[in-house]
Amino acid sequence: MSRVLEGLEPQKVFYYFEELSRIPRPSYHEKAISDYLADFAKERGLEYYQDDLYNIIIIKEATAGYEDAAPVIFQGHMDMVCEKEAGCKKDMEKEGVDLAAEGDFVFAKGTTLGGDDGIALAMGLAILDSDHLPHPRLEAVFTVSEEVGMEGASGIDVSMLRGRRLLNLDSEEEGVFLAGCAGGAVATVTLPKNTRPRKEESVFRISAEGLRGGHSGTEIHKGRVNANILMARLLSEVYKKTPFSLIRVSGGAKDNAIAREAEALLACDRPSEIFSLLQQTAAALIKEYRPLEQEISLTAERWDGSLPEEILTRETTEAYLKLLCDMPHGVIAMCKGQDDLVETSLNLGVVTDQKEDVCLSYCVRSSVDRAFDELIGTMKETAERCGASVSVRGRYPAWEFAEVSPLRQMMLDVYREMFQKEAVVNVMHAGVECGQLAQKLPGMDAVSFGPDLFDIHTPKERMSISSVQRTYAFLLELLKRAR
Ligand SMILES: [Zn+2]
Repeated sequence: MSRVLEGLEPQKVFYYFEELSRIPRPSYHEKAISDYLADFAKERGLEYYQDDLYNIIIIKEATAGYEDAAPVIFQGHMDMVCEKEAGCKKDMEKEGVDLAAEGDFVFAKGTTLGGDDGIALAMGLAILDSDHLPHPRLEAVFTVSEEVGMEGASGIDVSMLRGRRLLNLDSEEEGVFLAGCAGGAVATVTLPKNTRPRKEESVFRISAEGLRGGHSGTEIHKGRVNANILMARLLSEVYKKTPFSLIRVSGGAKDNAIAREAEALLACDRPSEIFSLLQQTAAALIKEYRPLEQEISLTAERWDGSLPEEILTRETTEAYLKLLCDMPHGVIAMCKGQDDLVETSLNLGVVTDQKEDVCLSYCVRSSVDRAFDELIGTMKETAERCGASVSVRGRYPAWEFAEVSPLRQMMLDVYREMFQKEAVVNVMHAGVECGQLAQKLPGMDAVSFGPDLFDIHTPKERMSISSVQRTYAFLLELLKRAR
C-alpha cells in the first residue's frame, strides 16, 4: 500500500501516524487500536499490560548509561473525536481516515484527523521501536475514552508504574506547557414528564441555529451563545404572555460542546398571537446577541410534519422553562488573582426528550473542589424547585498547579536552549488526564505539551508538520537529559 506521508520527517513518527490512521478509533471502540499496540509490544518483546477497558501500558527498559535514572511516564490517548463534513459518507467506526498532506499540514479528507491524540501514540511508538535513542526506563501509558470523560485514565491500574515524572502529549500548542487543569463531571438534570392527549391545536416549530459553539472548557468565557439557553429564553418570554404546551424539545450534540442548535415544537390555541409574539421576541433576542453571534438565526414556522399523540401538560411546560431559566449557566467564577482564567463553569450541552422525562446534560468544571460542590448544591436546589432531580457521574479531579516542578523547569531550560525563546506555562479550565494519574501516583511531577494542532474535534483539524518535527526533537532531547 502506498504511503501518503512517505518522506515526511521524522519518518518513523509519520510512519506510525499513518499506520494508526488506518485503524478506526472512536471513543468506546478502541479494541482494534489497543490490539495493534499490544501486538507492537509483543513483536518487540516489550513488557506490556492490556486491561479490560483496553488501556495499554508498554514498558521499555532504560538504555545504557540510564539504568539509575528515574523512569519517565509517556502518555497519550487512543480514542479520537469522529466528526465529518456534511456529505462525507465514511463510517468512522469501521474505516480509518483518508490522510492528506499539503504545505505544512497533515489533515484528513472530510473528517477529523485524530492528530489529537494520534500524534502522541505515533511519537511513543517511534521511541519504543528505536534501538539507538537514549532514555531512562520508559513507561508508555495509552488510555481509552479520553474524549468522553476520561474513563480510561479513571479506570486504569497504574500500580506497575515506577515513574513519577509524566510527559503527557495531549496539548495542541507548541511552546505552551500545561501545568494544571480544572476538575469536573457531567451532571444530568431529569425532569419527569406529565403528558396529555394532543387536541386539534396549531403547532409551531422553533429553531435556533447558526451559533458558533465551541469547547465548554476552553471557550466558555468567550461570550458564545448556547442554543439551548437561547431557546429557553425565547419560549419563556412568550409563555409568560400567552401560555402554550411544548410537544418536544431538543438541542446540542455533546456535553462538552456549547450547543449550536436547538429545536422545539409547541402547540397552542391562539396561533396568530403566539406567532407574532415569537417573532417579536426572536427579533429582540437576535438584536441583543448579534454582536456576539453574527450568524444567529431564530425562526418560528407552522409545522405540519408528524406529531406524537401525547404532548407535555402546561405544568410540565412551565416547569421545564423555569428550570432552564433559573439554572445557573456559563461562567460562575473566575480564578482568584488570575482574571483571565475560569475557575468554575457549567455548560448545558445536550437536551434530550425521552419517553418519560426531559434530560439536561451539563458539563460542570471547577479548579476548586469546594466551588464544584457548591455549584452542584445550587443545581440540586434549583432542580427540586421545578420538580426535577440531579445526578452526577464521571467526576474527575482537578490537576493542581505545583509551584515547584523539576520536570517543568528542565523543559523550560531545554526549550530555551533549543529554540532561543521562552515557553509559556499555562493552566486551563478544560480537563486533561494528568489529574487522574497524579491522583493515583502521589508525588507525580507532570507537564502536558504537544505540537500545533488546529481546529481539533472538527473536520478542519490539521497538524503542523514542522511543529511535529520540533516537538519530537524536543521530546528526544528531554529523554536524553532525563538522567
Ligand atoms: Zn486529546
